[in-house]
Amino acid sequence: MREFDLLRHIYTQNPTLPGRVTIPPGDDMGAVRLAGGGEVLVTVDQVADGVHFDLRTTPLEKIARKAITRNLSDVAAMAAAPVGAVVAACLPRGFSEADAEKLSDMMRQTAARYDCPLFGGDVSVWDHPMILTVTVLAEARGVDPILRRGAKVGDAVCVTGRLGGSLEDVNGYTHHLDFEPRLSLARRLASDPATRPNCMIDLSDGLARDLGHLCRAASVSAVIEADRLPISAGGEQASRRDGRPAWMHAVGDGEDYELCFTIDADRAARLPREINGVPVTVIGRVVAGGGAVVSLVKPGGETVDLVGLGWEHHGK
Ligand SMILES: [Mg+2]
Repeated sequence: MREFDLLRHIYTQNPTLPGRVTIPPGDDMGAVRLAGGGEVLVTVDQVADGVHFDLRTTPLEKIARKAITRNLSDVAAMAAAPVGAVVAACLPRGFSEADAEKLSDMMRQTAARYDCPLFGGDVSVWDHPMILTVTVLAEARGVDPILRRGAKVGDAVCVTGRLGGSLEDVNGYTHHLDFEPRLSLARRLASDPATRPNCMIDLSDGLARDLGHLCRAASVSAVIEADRLPISAGGEQASRRDGRPAWMHAVGDGEDYELCFTIDADRAARLPREINGVPVTVIGRVVAGGGAVVSLVKPGGETVDLVGLGWEHHGK
């Protein structure tokens, strides 16, 4: 089964959903309107041993943290404000009570740090690897959510932070475990009409693939420039190690948990280069073409299509 084929099947059912579903499947969060007024945004995500982390080598604190922050990155992608979280844990038989408590405490503390109280959950014990499933609720709180749909031809394509090498250990910092979800940065961008993105996504599957989602949602294509890509220390390290160009890591490694957005070109020119110490970089532009093709101008000037460089399935 290909993950994307299943998702496409789910999206085709969207027109059958009742009107109170205000953001249907296909975005970073869904949303439903409440009878008393207001709207709640929801995301659910899993981290599994052997897929997103390795229980033998990853400290429990970092696993717990990532289970929460991955979801908060989706909240950031909508420019929403977290309200609270619940978790369902499948723990391997033999997992100690002390470790289970440590896991639970760290999830609670991480969530609390982002003003997102962990207020419920469920635990099962089974004979399989650990899976943590986290649901986060959020609200607009005065800032209209930003959808994946909305890119326009001529928009600038921008990213926050630096990309690539998320699995690399750089002096004890491993980005896919230690990243900061861009919640406040997203709210700041979205709340000011001068900097409000036209569409946004968080980078979990790799820039090539996730920017492809923005393009597909608006029936446009995009061209990015390798020379403009902000490369992380992990991306540089990965490039030195395997000899592949750093831009390849930036577009394909995945788990950057940065934001990718498009914005009118004249507004992009006035974007701050940095917000709260996080770089905001224009890396390319939206072009006509309904094929959702993401192309890259290589350092020498040659243009290539970035098909197949993003991840079909998540790595560790
Ligand atoms: Mg996402």
